[in-house]
This record gives sequence, structure tokens and C-alpha cells, in this order.
Amino acid sequence: MLYLGCHLSSTKGFLHMGEEALSIGANTFQFFTRNPRGSRAKAMDEQDAAALRRFMEEHGFSAFVAHAPYTLNACSANQQTREFALETMTDDLARLEYLPGNLYNFHPGSHVGQGAEEGIRQIAAALNQILQPGQHTTVLLETMAGKGSEVGRSFEELRAILEQVELKDKMGVCLDTCHVYDAGYDIVNDLDGVLREFDRVVGLDRLRAVHLNDSKNPMGSHKDRHEKIGQGSLGLEAAVRIVSHPLLQGLPFCLETPNELPGYQAEIALLRSRFQR
Ligand code: FE
Ligand code: FE
Ligand code: ZN
Repeated sequence: MLYLGCHLSSTKGFLHMGEEALSIGANTFQFFTRNPRGSRAKAMDEQDAAALRRFMEEHGFSAFVAHAPYTLNACSANQQTREFALETMTDDLARLEYLPGNLYNFHPGSHVGQGAEEGIRQIAAALNQILQPGQHTTVLLETMAGKGSEVGRSFEELRAILEQVELKDKMGVCLDTCHVYDAGYDIVNDLDGVLREFDRVVGLDRLRAVHLNDSKNPMGSHKDRHEKIGQGSLGLEAAVRIVSHPLLQGLPFCLETPNELPGYQAEIALLRSRFQR
């Protein structure tokens, strides 16, 4: 089964996202848990959450990806910024308990001169406060492009975070194709080799979602500028190989390409037409 979807706006509620996804040929989706700038989330609508759960089951959706605000920084040099990330993520996870069995993705953070090792320690320390033994959401570290002082620019950095987390069964990784290519992993010419490397360093059993994006920049550029599928340095054939790869079957693939709904719908249709099982 190919679970393919895209980033959607959550402003009209939970069930609306499911319906919108279905209307563009998607069977998964992603959304921001709250405004990236502002921090306040709407009051939880339990009935709307229950309606989405039923809808996803009825229509054979995979888990969705709830994305933390990308402005959070769990390894800031500023203690208040770190605490804000911790509080926001704790609140997001409490809300997601109304939608059990889904995924919560976040950017590990930027160490801003503290060094990657200290950044990794702070991120793991935050996770050790945030994660609860009874939670029903898997928290994902996103692979990063390595822009500035971003942590998570290599599979080794992700492993180092995971190694320091106590509740490891609550953790996974989301692989962003634009980011890993920008980070220097050649998923265009050597997808098998990169997946082997991911398996060796992190473990493929930790891979729980994929962000499917083309990149405006060449491999190793550390830029993080997403491009439409087939219009960047990865190209369409690489995207087809990724969604069709035997080791990636069953994962949710979410597009985060620069598109409105009709553009997403066209990319989903194109990838479904080229999908090879
Ligand atoms: Fe992201
Ligand atoms: Fe992403
Ligand atoms: Zn990105």
C-alpha cells in the first residue's frame, strides 16, 4: 500500500483535514500542531478528533504526522527558549492522546555555537522530560539539511540523540528527502547505499515517516529549500524510486513541496501512476 499525502492547513479542524486529504487522492497527511510563530493552540475539540479517527479508519489512512512548530529549539543556548520548546511539546503530546497511534515530528534544533555534542545532550534531556511511558504517540526526529548549526545533519547525530533517550520505544525518525540530499546523502544515484547506511547507523526499524520533497539545491549544499517533485536536483525518477523502494513500503510519505492543493493533487496522482510494487 502506498500511503501518500501532503502538508495541510489545520485551521478548519481535524475531520476537515481527513476529508481534504481524501479529496486530493491522499491517504495520509501532515499538519502543524499550532502556528509556527504564535504558540497558543486552539482548545482541543474531542468530538472532532474522534470523527477524524473514524474517518481515517474508514478510508484506510496510515498514521498522520503532526509537526511541531519549526521555531522551537530544544537546544538553544537560552534556557527560556529551551523551556518553551519543552512546554510546547509536552502540551502537543497531551493533545495528541485524543488521536492515539499517530506520529509527532520535530526538528531536533540548532545548537547555536554550543557545539553538536552539547546540543545532542540538551535535546535528549528535553525528550527525557517530555516522553511518558503511557503515551500513544511516536515522537520523530527529522533528518536535517545541516543549515547553520542544525543538529540532526547526519545519521550519527540522530543516533547519538536516540542513544541518550530513556523511552526509546516512543521514538522514531522522519527522513526528509530534500534535507538528506542537502546534507550530502546521495539518494539520487545510491538510494540503496543510503538506506543501508541509515540501517547500519540508526536502524530502519526506527524509520516511521518520509517527507518527500525535491530540492532547489545540489547535494551537500546544506540549504533546505524545497522544490516541486521532479523540478529540482533530485528529479522525478528518484522520487519514484523512493516511494517504490521495497524497504520503505507502508511508511507515510508526505509532500512538503511549494504547492497549493491542486499542485499537491497533481503530484500525488503522478506518483501513484508511477508507483511500482
Ligand atoms: Fe520539518
Ligand atoms: Fe520536512
Ligand atoms: Zn525543509
